[in-house]
Amino acid sequence: MATIIDGRAVARQMRQKIAAEAQKLFAERGIVPGLAVVIVGDDPASHIYVRNKKRACIDVGFYSEVIELPQDTTMDELKAVVERLNRNEAVHGILVQLPLPPQLDDREIIQTIDPKKDVDAFSPVNAGRVLAGKYDFLPCTPAGIMALLKAYNIEVEGRECVVVGRSNIVGKPMALLLLEANGTVTICHSRTKNLEEHCRRADILVSAVGKPGLIRGDMVKPGAVVIDVGTTRLPDGKLVGDTVFDEVASVASYITPVSGGVGPMTITMLLQNTLTAARLQSGAK
Ligand code: NAP
Repeated sequence: MATIIDGRAVARQMRQKIAAEAQKLFAERGIVPGLAVVIVGDDPASHIYVRNKKRACIDVGFYSEVIELPQDTTMDELKAVVERLNRNEAVHGILVQLPLPPQLDDREIIQTIDPKKDVDAFSPVNAGRVLAGKYDFLPCTPAGIMALLKAYNIEVEGRECVVVGRSNIVGKPMALLLLEANGTVTICHSRTKNLEEHCRRADILVSAVGKPGLIRGDMVKPGAVVIDVGTTRLPDGKLVGDTVFDEVASVASYITPVSGGVGPMTITMLLQNTLTAARLQSGAK
């Protein structure tokens, strides 16, 4: 039976460290790391995510600002809000909660965020830096997964890593980070033929799709490490991942649960990036 990776415990430890570092930054330079989150419209799930981010900021002693805009906000209005935040010295990190209403172009908005404040690391500048291996911030979910692997002393070097999903925010940067850690990486997606075969070769299998039941026990190599990023809300309200948990847990050596696996790490890395942004903007090391 696999060891269940406890993302909540790892996140708690990291957040304690972040809180201590934030206190130090305040003591030495009088700076309180600040994160602004912009949310447009009234998607209930997005509002829950934003509330969680605000609470996490407050818990570690950060300044937190949430800007709520109406569903019919225009591009010019949203850009003006982001530009104002770019100039606000109390705000070191800016995050625009996705998805945006259809009249808004998320790519253009993300490009409006000052790259020094782009703590999601979604902008082309920061994505390019990740590709080049010279970055200040890493996208939060893949960075959180790397931190989990480290916390459990799971070696990546020389191992077969299979990432299912190729989105700009999870799959692609995940593959890059595993590559940087000297894994041998395969990326699978909706057009991949023989997904089962690719998955069965993986020593480390990361599934970031959002399709419950996609990864079954017979697709996993005995002893593999399985990271389930997928989160799908079922009609009964239950949150599930991509794996058939019981089947996969009986074959794998390590597995992340949904919830309490990758999720808590994503917000933790957002806090880490905000702290880094505050340090860089203040000239601290
Ligand atoms: P996304 O943009 O929808 O990407 C999904 C990816 O899965 C795409 O690359 C797609 O391939 C691929 N895919 C779809 N069906 C497939 C299939 N049958 N076989 C193989 N690949 C398939 O989603 P995302 O933003 O990357 O998020 C992925 C999942 O992670 C979602 O459930 C999301 O809610 C969750 N998530 C969780 C966290 C967390 O903190 N826990 C953070 C971010 C995301 P194509 O490119 O070919 O379409």
